[in-house]
Amino acid sequence: KLVIKDLAKSFSVNGGKLEVLKGINLTIADGEFVAIVGHSGCGKSTLLKIIAGLETQDTGICDMDGQAITQPGFDRGMIFQEHRLLPWLTIEKNVALSLNSHSKADCAARVDKYLSMVKLNDFKTAYPSQLSGGMSQRAAIARAMAPSPDVLLLDEPFGALDAMTKIELQDEVKELRKKEKSTMVMVTHDIEEAVYLADRVIVMAANPGRIRDIVTISLGEERDRGSADFTVYRK
Ligand code: ATP
Ligand code: MG
Repeated sequence: KLVIKDLAKSFSVNGGKLEVLKGINLTIADGEFVAIVGHSGCGKSTLLKIIAGLETQDTGICDMDGQAITQPGFDRGMIFQEHRLLPWLTIEKNVALSLNSHSKADCAARVDKYLSMVKLNDFKTAYPSQLSGGMSQRAAIARAMAPSPDVLLLDEPFGALDAMTKIELQDEVKELRKKEKSTMVMVTHDIEEAVYLADRVIVMAANPGRIRDIVTISLGEERDRGSADFTVYRK
């Protein structure tokens, strides 16, 4: 499980200290899907980056199974708002990049498996510039999930997509989740999306960045679209 305790992070801005995260306490069970919502600038991406090991906290704990998350040995997948595929590599090579510690045969099998999961089998040898925004984001999802990471981190993954593609990808992530056991932490500005996909929704507030509420949606249960209850977010 992922344990975050008394975590704090500041940045120095204009000679002053900006408390971006303060007193963050959160435990995420293996296989759980947690969504993080909150106003722009409240520290959501910073928290995600600390979990990914791309930033380090000033104080407090961010542990995976009792070991600091910064230790090697945990596979993490990260998906950003923009796909961040390498334009000079084909889609299959982009996915293979995340599999460099796998044997050649396992790598090929995983590239096939995950590209077909996101319905891109016919685009293995295409280049990112030949794909639409939704397809590129699918490729990014395949790349992040191919190594079966312990934690999958998603930072506004569908924020740049049109409404219809977004709905398709949300359903794909829901399906993927049934097949994979990765713990998932997703930052989103779409509360309906959070309630549709997540087991729990973390509501953050700013200045200093902190957790305001943790709302349990329905652990591991199926639910329909449009069941979002917005009342908890009004304050
Ligand atoms: P958004 O919803 O707009 O993506 P966010 O909740 O993800 O916002 P963060 O990106 O975590 O917010 O940023 C939180 C605060 O920390 C912001 O005020 C931002 O300016 C500041 N910040 C983030 N990274 C740095 C950095 N490397 N140096 C200085 N300040 C930073
Ligand atoms: Mg952000």
